[in-house]
Amino acid sequence: MIADKFDVFLFDLDGVIYIGSEPLPEAAESLKRLRKEKKGIRFLTNDPCTTREKTARRLMSLGVEARSEEVITSSWLTAQYLKNEKIKTALVLGDEHLKWECQQVGIHIQDQNDVEAVVVGWDIDVFFRDIQKAAKLIQRETKFVVTNADRTFPTPEGPLPAVGAIVEAIRVSTNKKPFIVGKPNPYMFKKALEDFASSSRAVMVGDNPYTDVLGAHQAGIQAILVSDHKMKKFPSARDFRNPDATIPNLKSLFDHNIDIKNGFLLPFLGQRKLKRA
Ligand SMILES: [Mg+2]
Repeated sequence: MIADKFDVFLFDLDGVIYIGSEPLPEAAESLKRLRKEKKGIRFLTNDPCTTREKTARRLMSLGVEARSEEVITSSWLTAQYLKNEKIKTALVLGDEHLKWECQQVGIHIQDQNDVEAVVVGWDIDVFFRDIQKAAKLIQRETKFVVTNADRTFPTPEGPLPAVGAIVEAIRVSTNKKPFIVGKPNPYMFKKALEDFASSSRAVMVGDNPYTDVLGAHQAGIQAILVSDHKMKKFPSARDFRNPDATIPNLKSLFDHNIDIKNGFLLPFLGQRKLKRA
């Protein structure tokens, strides 16, 4: 079974542990079992409209044990990245959670022309003049950092524009590429694995081939797709968006009849060596 083959499990949240406010079947029980078996667990989300504490509380309310230090949100990680880059001032297009995380690492959120970075997350009240202000700064070589580049997010009425839509408006009008903090950038995966020995066997469990699966492979780890219908494969067997295994729910991690194929060798982008399952 898959659970025996790895020491560390990285979980996406929406579509894997819950959908909206509903926990997914078998998720809480399966995570409990992984903890009992002393597996390392991290939760990775591109959602910038939350904090680590808030996400951990949400998971606990759904019966999933979680500590805030086990949660990596794109808002928290963006703040960590800015701190690493020694950024002190930033124009932030985002909601109060992203701003709060930035302030926790000592960043002054300003509207001035001499800010060191433009940071883009999700802001439902963004004005076109904010986009113009950001673009003007980026034209002048101000650092361009974004929490994630997801183009849409799922809603009952169908997909709606997400952070990527704001990012794209700035990108096409400046011709400058942002640094993307969230998945599929390997940065989030590497940060999630920081506390574990480099010899530990890690795997990503997610429901999105374009962020979870691609990102894991780019970081040099294997990826399991959670999907209850058979997904069409990307034609090339070496396409990074093809998962190493597909499971209907997290209980399948303990199913003796479900296995994970051997990891293929990747042109390696990170420092971790790909662990063969
Ligand atoms: Mg998801």
